[in-house]
Amino acid sequence: MSERGLLIVLSGPSGVGKGTVRKAIFSKPNTKFQYSISMTTRKPREGEIDGVDYFFKSREEFEVLIKNNKLLEWAEYVGNYYGTPVDYVEQTLQDGKDVFLEIEVQGALQVRNAFPEGLFIFLAPPSLKELKNRIVTRGTESDDLILNRMRVAKEEIEMMDAYDYVVENDQVDLACERINAIVIAEHLKRERVAARYKNMLEVDF
Ligand code: 5GP
Repeated sequence: MSERGLLIVLSGPSGVGKGTVRKAIFSKPNTKFQYSISMTTRKPREGEIDGVDYFFKSREEFEVLIKNNKLLEWAEYVGNYYGTPVDYVEQTLQDGKDVFLEIEVQGALQVRNAFPEGLFIFLAPPSLKELKNRIVTRGTESDDLILNRMRVAKEEIEMMDAYDYVVENDQVDLACERINAIVIAEHLKRERVAARYKNMLEVDF
């Protein structure tokens, strides 16, 4: 029996560039992760293909999937449903392959409950450091915009608590490298390696 794959969840606040980073990861020929194509009720954008970018569904179809427990997680985001098909994830992990989800934060929290052994990566906005600096050095500023950005930044920082790793998306290529490094390290965790050796010892001796 092959070792179970890793469930990798890339998530983070809206506008942080999750989709861009995910596309960059999958554009590399040596990527071994299996991308879990989500279901959505939003209309396809120009150039998007059903079954490649998303499985495009009606609201009625989506609600049937929810009712029949066919989704590992789902969320309503800007008036549309988005969700992860559970069967694909389960089967692919069972086949020993790593599954990669790129989902918004509400969904990631649901996956955390269902799959606490998953690898949860928070993609952080590149401007966070900058923003923090500004907040610290210009503490007297009461401009509405800055206040609002501070509030958003605070909410964003708080969302990190549910994740294992934080990757700053300052440059897409660097963010991809960091994510790949995290996955490599995760595969080398003692628990995983020890289980593999234990199996080997049972078979070979
Ligand atoms: P978009 O409509 O721009 O493709 O995606 C909108 C948001 O939905 C993005 O933050 C994306 O990460 C998220 N998303 C895509 N697929 C899923 C999914 O299956 N579940 C959840 N919860 N969010 C998703």
